[in-house]
Amino acid sequence: MRTSLLPYGRQLIDEDDIRAVVEALRADLVTTGPTVGEFERRFAERVEAKYAVAVSSGTAALHAAAFAAGIGPGDEVVTTPLTFVGTSNAVVYLGGRPVFSDICAGTLNLDPALLETQLTSRTRAVIPVHFAGQPCDLDAIHTVARARGLRVIEDAAHALGAEYRGQRIGSRSDLVVFSLHPVKHITTGEGGVVTTNDAELAARLRRFRNHGFAVDAKDRQARGLLYAEMVDLGFNYRLTDIQCALGLSQLGKLDEFVARRQAVGERYRSELKGLAGLALPALGDGVRHAWHLFPVLLELERLAVDRATIFAALRAENIGVTLHYVPAYWHPYYERLGYRRGLCPRAEAISERIMTLPIFPAMRDGDVEDVVGALRKVLGHYLR
Ligand SMILES: *Cc1c(COP(=O)(O)O)cnc(C)c1O
Repeated sequence: MRTSLLPYGRQLIDEDDIRAVVEALRADLVTTGPTVGEFERRFAERVEAKYAVAVSSGTAALHAAAFAAGIGPGDEVVTTPLTFVGTSNAVVYLGGRPVFSDICAGTLNLDPALLETQLTSRTRAVIPVHFAGQPCDLDAIHTVARARGLRVIEDAAHALGAEYRGQRIGSRSDLVVFSLHPVKHITTGEGGVVTTNDAELAARLRRFRNHGFAVDAKDRQARGLLYAEMVDLGFNYRLTDIQCALGLSQLGKLDEFVARRQAVGERYRSELKGLAGLALPALGDGVRHAWHLFPVLLELERLAVDRATIFAALRAENIGVTLHYVPAYWHPYYERLGYRRGLCPRAEAISERIMTLPIFPAMRDGDVEDVVGALRKVLGHYLR
């Protein structure tokens, strides 16, 4: 048995990342300096988008994107219930109402066939989430959105490095949101990025992360302006140069990180295929999965105990399994807003039997074997 807990995810930071940060600490500007712009240019290039705007977290990126898309009081925004609460919270921050639409039981992504049934005269946008790193059916979502004049904001927090029909995630929708949290593909400690091909949306994002000022500190100095005019109600959502130095260094390793995640994902899939008591989500056609998470589905009808018992048994084996996610609207805050259970039956059923296995770039083959071995032991023991 393992002697230390294998976490479900963690950053991979090397000496060269550390050197980049130390160097950034010696610069004249530790925030609002040139490294922010350089990170944004490189990030945009990497995902083949025209513009990237760096902010202080993925949640700030969602908030900024929803603001830039014009979401306001009374607006409805359709999204998936199988996500981190930050996705729907971004709509609530702006006075809008998230509308939860059910997922495909196979891929666990938003079911485009149900989208249309959720639209009303108040619907303004759709926020698909590329669950676990597998791209949603973007063509189908865009077809519905285009016909109804809706904005599409991709929550790609799981999907940096993923591709849809040969195109990198980051350039296909009005706005695409990434997170740079340590469990995600690359990290800046905390951080987020929004990408877009639209200059006006990019300008709105830049204002929003800087209090709503029409010009940033650099421009104000360069143009000799006495003060910056505040034209929107923004926030301080800036990412520092120190963090962007780490981001630049990490970005150079993205391909390597994603390749390792894919290798771990493939190894899991081949070793776990057919294991009694366990099912694997479906892989869609024409996508490159970025494997942020490795979700599995317990076949509870074949097991003598509930999921909590399986979780505890795997934890006792030092395997850091976790849960992504309970439906967002099951949280007490959303219940208080009036959302009721039963809204999305497929997502609810999935969320009661889903479990996330460890996957991250520093994982060794031996770690994968530990997880597979523990699963065989625990599921074998509890099989009916
Ligand atoms: C991680 C994550 C976020 C939020 O990112 P933070 O950087 O932690 O604020 C949003 N949506 C999804 C789906 C995520 O996984």
